[in-house]
Amino acid sequence: MATVLVTGASRGLGLEFCKQYAAEGWEVLACCRQPEKADKLAGIANVRLLSLDVADFARIDSLAKEIRETPIDVLINNAGIYGDISGHGFGQLDYAAWAKTLLINTQAPVKMAEAFLPHLQRGKLKRLVTVSSQMASIADNGSGGSILYRTSKAALNAGMKSLSIDLKDLGIGVLILHPGWVKTDMGGPNALIDAELSVSGMRRVIADSTLRDSGSFLKYDGSILPW
Ligand code: NDP
Repeated sequence: MATVLVTGASRGLGLEFCKQYAAEGWEVLACCRQPEKADKLAGIANVRLLSLDVADFARIDSLAKEIRETPIDVLINNAGIYGDISGHGFGQLDYAAWAKTLLINTQAPVKMAEAFLPHLQRGKLKRLVTVSSQMASIADNGSGGSILYRTSKAALNAGMKSLSIDLKDLGIGVLILHPGWVKTDMGGPNALIDAELSVSGMRRVIADSTLRDSGSFLKYDGSILPW
């Protein structure tokens, strides 16, 4: 059976990815900052809880070492933050919050790819998936604002696009996904869709992907988004 690693598994989209893959019998490596408090994951069959704060790069390396014998078929970089909401306004930008947002949303997913490349190479499916956002799209930016978040996700997309080229010869497909506007803590109650629909769509996109799709920026329904 296949194995998926999910970051930010404690709630929201990460939790839903874990539930859906586990229900299909996949082995799920559910990474979260406080596994001891991840009540919603405790006791689900096929789920292995692992402690990981993606801002802690030494921990990313030690986790990769701890599970070095485990092949990973699909690695899902899901953990992300919007960034301190008060730090987004032009004229009062919070540069420390911006740096933290870049660390978690941009650098950590690339670091995950570096650390877990051997595991992905040993997996059968070889998919490196990153949950980005339509707010990364420069072409689609018609409303401005959200500078911390937009820049972190745009840079993330640029990094993952490069990885899609760098890792192609290894047979690793890199997918950059927009989950839709989803009812989670980040998306808020007015969002358009629920996590179940978003994640089932993204799982379909991942399952149907071929190496030709590597480096694409896709919505949860499979449609292509502009950079
Ligand atoms: P939530 O805020 O509901 O959940 C965020 C998850 O990320 C939590 O599990 C949180 O863990 C985890 N996380 C945050 N920082 C870290 C860290 N340093 N190390 C490990 N885990 C961390 O957000 P969503 O589920 O909505 O978002 C998931 C992804 O989807 C994000 O990348 C987001 O940018 C993206 N996205 C979401 C949209 C939406 O409408 N919801 C729209 C577009 C993109 P903890 O519980 O420990 O805080």
